[in-house]
Amino acid sequence: MIFFVGAGPGDVDLITVKGRKLLEEADVIIYAGSLVSKRQLDFVKDDAKIYDSSKMSLEEVLEVFKKSEEKRLVTVRLHTGDPGIYGAIGEQMKELDKLGIYYEVVPGVSSFSAANAAIKKEMTLPGVSQTIIITRNAGKTPVPEGEKLENLAKHHATMAIFLSISMIEEVVEKLLVGYEKTTPIAVVYRASWPEEKIIQGTLEDIAEKVKFENIGRQAMILVGDFLNTDFEYSKLYDKHFATGYRKAIPKDKKDE
Ligand code: SAH
Repeated sequence: MIFFVGAGPGDVDLITVKGRKLLEEADVIIYAGSLVSKRQLDFVKDDAKIYDSSKMSLEEVLEVFKKSEEKRLVTVRLHTGDPGIYGAIGEQMKELDKLGIYYEVVPGVSSFSAANAAIKKEMTLPGVSQTIIITRNAGKTPVPEGEKLENLAKHHATMAIFLSISMIEEVVEKLLVGYEKTTPIAVVYRASWPEEKIIQGTLEDIAEKVKFENIGRQAMILVGDFLNTDFEYSKLYDKHFATGYRKAIPKDKKDE
């Protein structure tokens, strides 16, 4: 049986309980050595066979899957963050479908959530933005026209930009097509790792700050007015609004 498991953003304890249990049971582990913490391997069986996928091709990964299945072993394919976000699991699952090999996917804490936790913000503030755009700048992998950063920027939504920190100047230039120069932006390097670093600024000064800190990889870019502190409170906990669990308290003069 094959399990695609989200390892979380870095901190070994940010894997799910289900993911940790599978790691403990697995006979074979293929992990993405470039981003998954090696400390995750402290939890595997002594005799488990371990492969680092950063040194392997798709064919080589599939070969390990096939061999493990022939022997009826439990295989964990450990991906960083959530495996369904820029994880290249699509192609692996397609090939397994062709081979008639069954698999399951265990979700993980994505790095955009970890980055946001690091800066302690709410990405969906009432009256500010109710939408999170998860995206990337075009690199080796192209991005469809309608999803180009300069087009997405026009929505003024909360944005989490993956895989783009090495192109920070270009990212800022494209974001300025939609957002104002004063829009706040945060860069979180290696969120949840011991070496985590937070850089905050506006679209006007962030590129300079990122260059100064020499950050060129493994960072999340979060942008939008949710980073400001001025916002409306939610209706969910407003005593004057009823919810499925609570009656509304009528407004009286004192409250107005
Ligand atoms: N599946 C992963 C993303 C893999 S793509 C997830 O859900 O998080 C790799 C990109 O993710 C990096 O270029 C970076 O933008 C981001 N990333 C991964 N781990 C990170 C971390 N700990 N802190 C900040 N960004 C991270």
